[in-house]
Amino acid sequence: MRKTLYIIGLSAFVFSCTSQQNVKKNTYKPKTPVAQPKPVAKTPVPVAPKPKVVSDHGVDFFTTNIADPTKNDNTASYGSIVSAKPAGYKVVKTYFPAIAQNFRQRYLILHYTALPDDKSITVLTQQAVSAHYLVNNTGDNEIYQLVDENKRSYHAGVSSWRNDKNLNDTSIGVEIVNAGYSSDSTGKRIFAPFSDEQVRKVAALAKDIITRYQIPATNVLAHSDIAPTRKQDPGPMFPWKKLYDEYQIGMWYDEATKQGLVSMAETDFATRYNEPSFIFLVQTALQKFGYGVEASGKWDDATKKTIEAFQYHFRPQNYDGIMDAETWAILQALNQKYPVK
Ligand SMILES: [Zn+2]
Repeated sequence: MRKTLYIIGLSAFVFSCTSQQNVKKNTYKPKTPVAQPKPVAKTPVPVAPKPKVVSDHGVDFFTTNIADPTKNDNTASYGSIVSAKPAGYKVVKTYFPAIAQNFRQRYLILHYTALPDDKSITVLTQQAVSAHYLVNNTGDNEIYQLVDENKRSYHAGVSSWRNDKNLNDTSIGVEIVNAGYSSDSTGKRIFAPFSDEQVRKVAALAKDIITRYQIPATNVLAHSDIAPTRKQDPGPMFPWKKLYDEYQIGMWYDEATKQGLVSMAETDFATRYNEPSFIFLVQTALQKFGYGVEASGKWDDATKKTIEAFQYHFRPQNYDGIMDAETWAILQALNQKYPVK
């Protein structure tokens, strides 16, 4: 029904443009019938409410959403309005708010700094990397904003998720002060924990950003998800499940679905592990979920790193980069729960 209304609304827009042109063209001629969408003339067209513009400290804001977000990802018009000021002319913001618009901010990407507080600030403000927000670990109630949300910050680098690339263009980046990892004698990465109060800070910030920009759960990701061959942050100590359970932030699998898939996954793991067709199937499932990994049919280095990144996020108890039965069941459960639209 909503879709129908949207199509009718769209037709109305096309109709109004067409009819205005005809008025001009046909001034000296009798009107010729023009093929027009039939239902438009008699069906009342729902009119989207105009957003209220409020001025505060010299900056104008839309204070309401103007469209149904289900129609176009995150179509809305909430937030500050940056306008031209052409010499001798007036830019009017209240007459024609377009329904066809969405936010630049479609992803939320979480990082750790791998640096202490003071160095994190220096690096993220004085060097060629940045983030929109920096969540310190000093125990106070402050969160530092380093970049305007409407601008790009340089936090993602070469990155991809599903069909999107270069996620600096479309994301908000949040850096969390954390020591990162050190390697033990076997070369295994040992990661530093996050304090509960820091996690609460990240959750409150993430919730606010996700709500304002209507960022879908599938787009709330780790840096390691969007750049798995290069990055580990925020690593397996970051409590994604807690964020999902307690704040409804991001993705998590259904335990029952996973359990239902485990025995089949165990069979796959025991009988087909080294078959190219099975490896291809796993790589394709990782791609379907969102990872930018090539389906080579081999357990190559990029695939192992991608599996490790997946484990950091969804199976943090063991992040050895091997697609074992549990990891395979979790990946399939997630693909069932979060299909590509
Ligand atoms: Zn990062």
